[in-house]
Amino acid sequence: MSLLLASYHGLHVPDLRREHVKLRWLQPDWQRNTRVRELAKTCPCRVLGYTLFQAGGLVFIRRVNATDTVETERLRAATTQEMWDWLLTGRAV
Ligand SMILES: [Zn+2]
Repeated sequence: MSLLLASYHGLHVPDLRREHVKLRWLQPDWQRNTRVRELAKTCPCRVLGYTLFQAGGLVFIRRVNATDTVETERLRAATTQEMWDWLLTGRAV
């Protein structure tokens, strides 16, 4: 793979590890979604996408696939960052 092609892609979620945790996903509360800031997102080449958002002092993850949009609870940055790391290393789904 050329360097150019490699840099074109963003973060990819790896295959899920055999031992993993299931995060709790909630229906989005669109009323609360004013003034959110995108902190990170997975590569848009995949149907399943995760985005890390900051909303005020809290941080949450949104998961979007072909049929569904769900979000985690809004939690302290350190807690959500750990969940984000788990997702991006196949340790959570
Ligand atoms: Zn990609």
